[in-house]
Amino acid sequence: TQWVYTFGDGKAEGRADMKNLLGGKGANLAEMSSLGVPVPAGFTITTEVCTYYYANGETYPADLKDQVAAGVAQLEKIMGAGFGDRKNPLLVSVRSGARASMPGMMDTVLNLGLNDETVQGLIEQSGDPRFAYDSYRRFIQMYGDVVLGVEHHHFEELLQDLKDDRGVDLDTHLNADDWKELVGRFKAKVHEELGRPFPEDPQEQLWGAIGAVFGSWMNQRAITYRRLHDIPAEWGTAVNVQAMVFGNMGDDCATGVCFTRDPSTGENVFYGEYLVNAQGEDVVAGIRTPQHLTIHGKQIHGSDLPAMEEVMPALFKDLCDVRDRLEAHYKDMQDMEFTIQRGKLWMLQTRTGKRTSKASLKIAVDMAREGLISEAEAVDRIDPAQLDQLLHPMLDPDAEKDVLAKGLPASPGAAAGRVVFSADDAEEWVKRGEKVILVRIETSPEDIGGMHCSEGILTTRGGMTSHAAVVARGMGRPCVAGAGEIRVDYKAKTFVARGRTIKEGDTVTLDGSTGEVMAGAVPTIQPELTGDFGILMGWVDGIRRLRVRANAETPLDAQTARKFGAEGIGLCRTEHMFFDPARIIHMRQMILADDEAGRRKALDTLLPYQRQDFVDLFSIMQGLPVTVRLLDPPLHEFLPSSDEEIADVAKAADVDEGTIRAAIVRLHESNPMLGWRGCRLGVSFPEIYEMQARAIFEAAVEVAQKSGETVVPEVMIPLVGTKKELDLMKAVVDKAAEEVFAAKGKRLDYVVGTMIELPRAALRAGDIAETAHFFSFGTNDLTQTTLGMSRDDAGPFLHYYREKGIYEKDPFASLDQDGVGELVEIAAARGRKTRPDIKLGICGEHGGDPSSIAFCEALKLDYVSCSPYRVPVARLAAAQAVL
Ligand code: PEP
Ligand code: MG
Repeated sequence: TQWVYTFGDGKAEGRADMKNLLGGKGANLAEMSSLGVPVPAGFTITTEVCTYYYANGETYPADLKDQVAAGVAQLEKIMGAGFGDRKNPLLVSVRSGARASMPGMMDTVLNLGLNDETVQGLIEQSGDPRFAYDSYRRFIQMYGDVVLGVEHHHFEELLQDLKDDRGVDLDTHLNADDWKELVGRFKAKVHEELGRPFPEDPQEQLWGAIGAVFGSWMNQRAITYRRLHDIPAEWGTAVNVQAMVFGNMGDDCATGVCFTRDPSTGENVFYGEYLVNAQGEDVVAGIRTPQHLTIHGKQIHGSDLPAMEEVMPALFKDLCDVRDRLEAHYKDMQDMEFTIQRGKLWMLQTRTGKRTSKASLKIAVDMAREGLISEAEAVDRIDPAQLDQLLHPMLDPDAEKDVLAKGLPASPGAAAGRVVFSADDAEEWVKRGEKVILVRIETSPEDIGGMHCSEGILTTRGGMTSHAAVVARGMGRPCVAGAGEIRVDYKAKTFVARGRTIKEGDTVTLDGSTGEVMAGAVPTIQPELTGDFGILMGWVDGIRRLRVRANAETPLDAQTARKFGAEGIGLCRTEHMFFDPARIIHMRQMILADDEAGRRKALDTLLPYQRQDFVDLFSIMQGLPVTVRLLDPPLHEFLPSSDEEIADVAKAADVDEGTIRAAIVRLHESNPMLGWRGCRLGVSFPEIYEMQARAIFEAAVEVAQKSGETVVPEVMIPLVGTKKELDLMKAVVDKAAEEVFAAKGKRLDYVVGTMIELPRAALRAGDIAETAHFFSFGTNDLTQTTLGMSRDDAGPFLHYYREKGIYEKDPFASLDQDGVGELVEIAAARGRKTRPDIKLGICGEHGGDPSSIAFCEALKLDYVSCSPYRVPVARLAAAQAVL
């Protein structure tokens, strides 16, 4: 087996499409090398070695040693230097690189190969002893921390002691001898902590680092990151060993991070940050404030530090050439890392750049128009979750704002919450039901759990490519980064901005699109969708086969649904139409009545309300299909509970309170979701469904006569398990229809169908389809009944199931395709066998979930139905499902 793939000198054994084997970083280094982009030579140890390592008690394949040795030999040849050579030492970096990018999640070691002898060679080669000893102490520090497990703070303390000894504040005031002294102290510390000396042998160093990278795949922060991003543990990481290039050898050196387009707005402008005379980690860590690449970037962010374009115009041009080549080659926005060593540009990484939702849309649409990609590719590029973010709130421009401070607009969207100062506190507060804003000087990978549960993130240090900014953007959390005018005091749990003090627990609002931090909760509004959104959705609609409807019952929901492109209503939950205080009283009266006369009295009051509801819905939907589901009230949601409610119902029903209380006791259910719900109510008291059917047909006739718009009502019966239930209910509906048509002198087409939300209904779909004109899969109930897990009670234990991988995703959010999905498949097949043109749809929560939508496409259902805000996402997912 080939475990090691080399690259460098315009050649490579790997390719960009070998990410599974080489990891994202390794595959792209190989690709860049083949393209002739300047990449320091190196080799990649494959992810298969990681898999082997964990499958074989943390050991390596027997022939790995020889392959690594050959890799090192080739590296030495290309670089003209020797690994461990005291005159001309080859130094390497050792980094992880998984299939999916996991920024900052795993460990890196730089400057590997240095020891007391090779440092002399580095002094000779660089002519700069200060640089050489600084590199050496950085190496001991990183290697000590990452590989040997000597905690970081020991090194920080020794550095601080040395600065105190020398009476200086800044690292830059330490000279070569100081760094040399520190190297000695670092090594003594390592010896003291471990009881053995720091390894001087470069081979031992190399294998230690390789082991640490493979080991880091299973560290806690990597595990958490994978869980949050659905990355399977089996993927493993690759290890990249690469010749070092130095951005910190003087003022003709630099290091930086850049994007081929603006990752925040999507504009086709070169965007990035760099630091002169620095090592790569310095930019990302946000310790020094980075400078902009371009004059344009400098201007829009109001920076007065000189841009790279001004400082190093020739190298900037080289970088622009690389930008053009990589974007044309990858046909997507790239996120690149570079280092300039003594006036020569080296590319250290390229990958598809993370971007805001807004940028994602703009870049896809622009690239399709530029002819770089096709319209279908543009559609395929948009992450449905990101599209979702575009539909989320922003600050109301007319609202009063009390601005406390301003930082960088690091991740868009607006959010308010109570201030906490640590990721742990964020998680704790959120568990108690609070909404929080996480405020940190800077964030680190350990903070991601807390960042994920926060409404927004505020940091006082670091640039647009800092950890906080990159991670928040990926998570879709609003983030203001580098708000330097804010002073955080972690001990006192306060921050001070422009002379005002904000305490833990105070409410603030962040606007991640402008960088503003405001006191209090500022009102938000829905964003205007840009022209790009409409253009993309046009392409989407040209591609998809599935129709997309909305679950809606109020005029507002129906209007929203139309605005977002819904092609009908797939589920109107009529019980939701009775929550209004003026109505619920009659609803309760109806439920609690002890005879038909009592029920009819309440129903007569409800009929005009219902009719008007349907008139509104049919009018708004202008002839599009509307599926009205007859009453399905879990009784416990409707029974009165407070004394006041009981008194009100008693009064309305004209009975004493004792009668009502007795009825409440009689109707109490220990398992309401499996109780007297759905058509069981209609079977018991047909007058209820009769009233609803009457209201539907009277409304349909009224709208047809008024507007000339033909509505074809689709009447849907809930919680059906047997054909007989459906037959009985359909007879009630048909009779009401006939009576209304006769009375109004006008007939209309209509259909009667059923929900499939019980396993029995799915299995007996063949006979049910003899009566039903359509099926709508109620996968909320079908999931709860198939899994035998209460949809209201599964939350607390489901996360154990997800952690243990029993269900990979929450089955109430994303369809359990193997189990519940098989029932859907059976029901679709049996239903179609009886009635080949039966219309099939889905209206459970899964109707808005992209992977469930792909499943519906595979079964060739006719439509999905989801909440109005998810309609655009569902349209997109439906299009992607056919690509
Ligand atoms: C369902 O069960 O999937 C469904 C849509 O109905 P409800 O959520 O109202 O029970
Ligand atoms: Mg249901």
